[in-house]
Amino acid sequence: MIHFVGAGPGAEDLITVRGQRLLRQADVVIYAGSLVNPELLKETKKCCKIYNSAHMTLEEVLEVMEEAQEKGLDTVRLHTGDPSLYGAVREQMDRLEERGIPYESCPGVSSFGAAAAALNLEYTLPGLSQSVVITRMEGRTPVPEREQVAAFAVHQATMVLFLSAGLLPELTRELLAGGYEPDTPAAIVYKASWPEEACYPCTVGTLAQTGEAHGISKTALIIVGEVVAHQNYQRSRLYDPEFTTGYRRGRNDEDQDH
Ligand code: SAH
Repeated sequence: MIHFVGAGPGAEDLITVRGQRLLRQADVVIYAGSLVNPELLKETKKCCKIYNSAHMTLEEVLEVMEEAQEKGLDTVRLHTGDPSLYGAVREQMDRLEERGIPYESCPGVSSFGAAAAALNLEYTLPGLSQSVVITRMEGRTPVPEREQVAAFAVHQATMVLFLSAGLLPELTRELLAGGYEPDTPAAIVYKASWPEEACYPCTVGTLAQTGEAHGISKTALIIVGEVVAHQNYQRSRLYDPEFTTGYRRGRNDEDQDH
């Protein structure tokens, strides 16, 4: 069996309990060496064979998985954050299916959750934004035309940009072209949850100079939107004394949606 496991954003204790158990039981681990904290590998059995996929092609990864499966061994494929985001897991799964090798997934804490935690941020503040756009600038991987940052920017929803820390001047241009004001609050979060974590609050207009001043070109998320400054949001209906919820009768007797 192949277990696709989310390693979490970096901190050793931000892997799930299930993920940790799978790591402890694994006979073979293939980890994404560029971003997975190697400290997590201390959890593995002495006899566990460990591969760093940063040096491997998809074909080589599959070869290791196939060989392990033939020997009846358990493999953990350890991906950074949550494997469902920019994880390149589907292509592995499809090839495993072709070979009749069983697999399953264990989710992880994505870096976008760790970045919010680093800033004590709520992405969805009533009155400011109720949506989060998770996207990236186009790099070597193309982004469909209809999903360009400028197109999403039109919504002025909270935006979290992965894989874009090396493209801050281009990102700023796209955000401005899409309609964000230069003084829209933004933040760069570098290595969220790692010991070297750093948060740089700024604005859309100062994103590029902030990144340059701190030498940020990778392993960072860019967060854009009014929620970063959290001014003038509305309090939640759920905890409003006036409102009745499924669990609590409000001063105002009528049942209301929140
Ligand atoms: N599946 C991962 C994302 C992989 S793509 C997840 O759920 O987090 C790799 C990109 O994720 C990096 O370029 C960076 O933008 C972001 N990233 C990953 N870990 C990070 C961290 N600890 N802090 C900030 N950004 C991170």
